[in-house]
Amino acid sequence: MKKPAPRSKKKAKSRGAVPLADEKRTQSSRPRLTIRGTNPARVAAILEGLNAAYPGASCELKHESPFQLLVSTILSAQCTDVRVNQVAVTLYAKYPTPSHFAYANPSELEQDIRPTGFFRNKTKSIMGAAKIVVEQFSGEVPQSMEQLLTLPGVARKTANVVLGSAYGIASGVVVDTHVMRLSERLDLTKHTDPKQIERDLIQILPQDKWVVFSHQLIWHGRRVCVARKPRCAECNLEYLCYAKDKTV
Ligand code: SF4
Repeated sequence: MKKPAPRSKKKAKSRGAVPLADEKRTQSSRPRLTIRGTNPARVAAILEGLNAAYPGASCELKHESPFQLLVSTILSAQCTDVRVNQVAVTLYAKYPTPSHFAYANPSELEQDIRPTGFFRNKTKSIMGAAKIVVEQFSGEVPQSMEQLLTLPGVARKTANVVLGSAYGIASGVVVDTHVMRLSERLDLTKHTDPKQIERDLIQILPQDKWVVFSHQLIWHGRRVCVARKPRCAECNLEYLCYAKDKTV
C-alpha cells in the first residue's frame, strides 16, 4: 500500500500568525481561531468582520431630526423598524414639531400610532417626552444621557440610539434584542441583563466603535445571525464563533 506523503513544512507555515486549532477548517476554508471570549485579538477580528460585512451600517429608523428619531425609537418597542417607518410618513406630516405632539389629542394620537402596538403607553410616553422637550429644553432633544433619562419612555437603549445616531455622541452601546442575542452567541458577555451587557461591551470595545458596533451587530442579527436558525454558512464570523446553536 502506498504511504501517504509527508506534509510539507512550507504548507504548515502558511497558516499565518493566529493560533489555530489542529486541522479544523470552516466551510469557507478560513482557519478557526482558538482564542475565545473577549481576548482582544478575537474582539478585533469580530470588529474587522463586521466592518467588512456592513461598512455602511446605520440606524434603520428613518428620521429628519433628533426629535423624530426619539419618537420613532419609542414607537419601535415590540415593533419592526419597517412598520415604524410606514407609520412615520403620515405621523410626522401631521405632527411636524415637538409642540404638535406635546399638546395633541391623546385619543387621536393613539389611533395614529396604533399599528405599532402598545399604542396607549406609547402615546403617554411620546406626549410626556414632547412636553418636557418643549417646556424644559426649548424644543430641542437634550444631548446628555442624564437629561435624556428624565424623559418618559426613555431608558438607556433609546437614549443611546438618539445620542449615537442623531448627535454622533458615543455615550454607550445600544443593547436591543439583536445585540443581546449576538453578544451571547459571540461570547462577549455572560450576562443577560441589558445594562450589564452594555457594561461588558463598553469594557472591550474602543469608544469610537460603540455607535457603529451597535448598528453592525443589529444588521447582522437581522440579516444573518437571526434568532431562529442563524445562517451560519453565510456568516463571515463563523470561523471565530462557537455558539451552541450554530447551524454549521
Ligand atoms: S456563526 Fe452563526 S451563530 Fe455564530 S455569529 Fe455567525 S450566524 Fe451567528
